[in-house]
Amino acid sequence: AKTEERNTLRFYTPMMHANTSRRLLLASELRQALVREEFRLVYQPSIEMRTGRIVAVEALVRWQHPDRGEVLPSEFIPVAESLGLIRRIDEWVMQAACAQIEAWDMAGMPPVRVAVNVSARGFGHAAFVDGVSRALQRRRVPPGRLMLEITESAMLRMGDDTERTMRALHTLGLEVAIDDFGTGYSSMAYLKLPAVAYLKIDRSFVSGLPESADDVAIIEAMLAMSRSLGLKTIAEGIETEAQHEFLLRAGCAEGQGYLYSYPLAASAIERLMSPRSYH
Ligand code: C2E
Ligand code: CA
Ligand code: CA
Ligand code: CA
Repeated sequence: AKTEERNTLRFYTPMMHANTSRRLLLASELRQALVREEFRLVYQPSIEMRTGRIVAVEALVRWQHPDRGEVLPSEFIPVAESLGLIRRIDEWVMQAACAQIEAWDMAGMPPVRVAVNVSARGFGHAAFVDGVSRALQRRRVPPGRLMLEITESAMLRMGDDTERTMRALHTLGLEVAIDDFGTGYSSMAYLKLPAVAYLKIDRSFVSGLPESADDVAIIEAMLAMSRSLGLKTIAEGIETEAQHEFLLRAGCAEGQGYLYSYPLAASAIERLMSPRSYH
């Protein structure tokens, strides 16, 4: 055990060090990135399973780093969270998404729903609902056009304020999706909260379809529960025809995944949505 421990240490220390220093670098650069507006949004379509029609897009943030190129959220969101910068990123995303909705509306694009991911910290903050409301008003975006995605684990962290926040969002006319559903190990009481209208089935369950009997059972149970609660279901991470077929037949309303489209720049979404592209 002793030698194993030594070997383990010797093996992991340089890697851990590399990760730590990269995180430290990212940390100092992240503050500048906010000031210099190095972020951009890409949009992944969500399709109606029955028709293949695009009914929504999900905004996903990217950091366009001057030397490193594109940095993915899985790398910088945790850093932003530990530095207390996540709320500023959320706020930037919210404003950028509302500006994009306004631009799309003015260009005459069909009015799709636009989903924005909200961090646990952002959602739990007392000023959250006001911030959303102001972002909508500034761009005169109808609240029904914006959907908020909140992870199941974020709901768990919130506690008592959850219901009040959901009620306020509902009053504003906003709908909420429970993101990464099935991964949060939490109670399901929040599925009854006002504003909660969608349930997004996590990719980890979709990836096993249709072969895994366990994933089939779990997804069928989620769809049944969702139906009886009057929620709409979106499956994420659909990569194969077989997954599409299964989910369509099982009655899942919407799907998202590389099978239909990767996340795209706003201009590419416009081309996809323009009537001319249906020739
Ligand atoms: P998420 O909300 O679950 O977003 C879905 C992720 O799955 C996206 O990764 C998307 O590009 C990826 N994806 C979509 N279809 C497929 C597929 O068919 N196969 C596979 N393998 N992956 C697929 P992305 O953009 O890297 O985002 C990762 C996570 O970062 C998101 O997970 C979300 O939790 C977080 N995130 C992204 N944008 C934002 C943001 O603006 N604000 C906040 N707070 N978090 C964000
Ligand atoms: Ca999401
Ligand atoms: Ca998700
Ligand atoms: Ca996910």
